[in-house]
Amino acid sequence: MDSGERSTALARLHGVVEACRRCSIGYTRTKVVCGVGDPASRLVIVGEGPGEAEDRQGAPFVGRAGELLTKMLAAIDLRREDVFITNTIKCRATTDEGGRIANRAPMQEEMANCREYLDVELEVVTPRVILALGAPAAKSFLGPGFSITRQRGMWYAGPHGADLMATYHPAYILRLTGGNMTAVKKLVWADLQAVRAKLDAVGAGSLNSLTTSALERGANEDKELKLDL
Ligand code: URA
Repeated sequence: MDSGERSTALARLHGVVEACRRCSIGYTRTKVVCGVGDPASRLVIVGEGPGEAEDRQGAPFVGRAGELLTKMLAAIDLRREDVFITNTIKCRATTDEGGRIANRAPMQEEMANCREYLDVELEVVTPRVILALGAPAAKSFLGPGFSITRQRGMWYAGPHGADLMATYHPAYILRLTGGNMTAVKKLVWADLQAVRAKLDAVGAGSLNSLTTSALERGANEDKELKLDL
């Protein structure tokens, strides 16, 4: 499939998801949030599900966690438009906390209902590398026993021959303070560097702009300072 055909397939999927009412959150969402970015990217990022900003705008990772994700990508010389960013569920999962609508984690059933849509995205984009952000996304690929603290930063076999890694979710990093935050940032930085090295190793250059050579990227230590998570 060329890039145009992939975009057409993803647009068709968007229409299907818009008509979907498999879950109750299909009735409460404002907009469906399907994946965006380069439809031929070698890297797909999979988050948990849309929050308030994403629900309003109809695009993934456009709130505070999204700002941090953009910085994380920039630290390994990737722009948002170089990668394909999506979620395990396409509608905002909410709960009513005494009149205040808050985000909640997706339910198993919601993730199962939406899995078909994520699978189509992965089949159309066929990335070489998948980065799952946070435990729910990681578990959706690697099973309920997956431990983000013990098993992040390792490579696993993902769908369609992709190499898959899980790391901490940017929203989790934003909730941390002090030494915990510093420690987690270090781990995430190591994971991001491993993703960059994997992209370089699989020759991520032919389909999009993931072409920056190690030389052009300069010293990673400088980037670590710039990460400023
Ligand atoms: N968190 C996610 O997991 N996905 C989004 O799109 C935004 C925040």
